[in-house]
Amino acid sequence: MKTGSIFVLAFLATLFGMQTPTISQQKAIQFGKLIDGSGKVILNAVVMVENDRISSVSENIRTIPQDVEIIDLSSYTGIPGLIDVHVHMTYYWDQKPGTNPWQQLNRRPAAKTLFLAQENAMKTLETGVTTVRDLHASDFNNIYMRDLINSGAMVGPRMLVCGYGLHINSESGGGANGVDEVMRVAREQISEGADWIKMFGSTGSASDLSGNQTFTYEEMKAAVDVTHNLGKRIAIHSYGPDGARDAVRAGAESVEHAVDLDQETLSEMIKRGTYYVPTIDHNRYYAEHRDEYGYGPEIAKNLNKFVQRNLETTRQAHKAGVRIAMGSDAVFTMFGQNTRELEWFVKAGMTTAEALATATINGAELLGMEDCLGKVVPGYYADIVAVKGDPLSDISVIINHVKWVMKGGAVVVDKTGKNE
Ligand SMILES: [Zn+2]
Repeated sequence: MKTGSIFVLAFLATLFGMQTPTISQQKAIQFGKLIDGSGKVILNAVVMVENDRISSVSENIRTIPQDVEIIDLSSYTGIPGLIDVHVHMTYYWDQKPGTNPWQQLNRRPAAKTLFLAQENAMKTLETGVTTVRDLHASDFNNIYMRDLINSGAMVGPRMLVCGYGLHINSESGGGANGVDEVMRVAREQISEGADWIKMFGSTGSASDLSGNQTFTYEEMKAAVDVTHNLGKRIAIHSYGPDGARDAVRAGAESVEHAVDLDQETLSEMIKRGTYYVPTIDHNRYYAEHRDEYGYGPEIAKNLNKFVQRNLETTRQAHKAGVRIAMGSDAVFTMFGQNTRELEWFVKAGMTTAEALATATINGAELLGMEDCLGKVVPGYYADIVAVKGDPLSDISVIINHVKWVMKGGAVVVDKTGKNE
């Protein structure tokens, strides 16, 4: 190395040192009202954040130390960062006229998809969702996306991911038939880095509303056992009640989508603590966006009928006392609508507080992260959202008026400067 460059380096180092002598990692966030997720509502709250965690929450504005960065959100309500337990973050469509989202997904190289999916991640953060569970991607792209986000190379919500979902169609990744293959393919996902296993336990997806059971009870049980033995959790997809019943009996942590759950299954879910993730809103989305997918009016009618059955099943499950978590099943252009599910939950008989809980403490518990996510309390991740209005009097405040989002102590969305 030449002497000149040593001088330059030394100069830069000095400059850098001068610019950052003691950057305070402490922030004080003021809220007019804070719904902390543990059942408390605090007026004129001050949330202290140190690095990626919450260090204290208090009501007294005078407790802010002098050398701390102050973020004034006193005209907003603070809520915990939200959790969407069912997304497909890597399903990306560029909306080019004459193209179909599903076809585009299968034809684009994996690396391009992973890059483009950052838009879905950003739209998700803008809804106040700071943590997601991703339940199927091709090419292990959800695993790589999780890692890139965790390393800071990409901006997006915290991801818990399943790699490929297991399904009975053997032609593509995740295909498995019979107990032995189910065990092998589940292990493969976990060795690639999956946090969760996803199993497609019935037919049904997008315009296909059939709910015929695909994997047998024995295959589901094998998947559950392999998953649990390796210290992971498993979600089983079923549109119909049969696959759901066997998924619950087999010991899955959550059952996705299912309609017409019978009383016996609901009782079993309560006994075992199985979560129901209804995903009511995604069929509303497909019906409303039918032109994008090329679905005719008949398909849209059936989708809306399924929404009503799904809503009714959610009402029954909630009444019975089954634990429910918010999952959007967001794909393609649905990102940005992740929390619309909450409106259906209120229609199904939940209070606004109960609906909020599905996307905070319930989601956290399902993910096994109830000791660090879902509440604005000391020691938890500084995942905090500011909304304009009071979500406890109107849940649509969360859906339409997210103004500011912090994830792990970093501000990732800030629309506070913009007019309503
Ligand atoms: Zn899904």
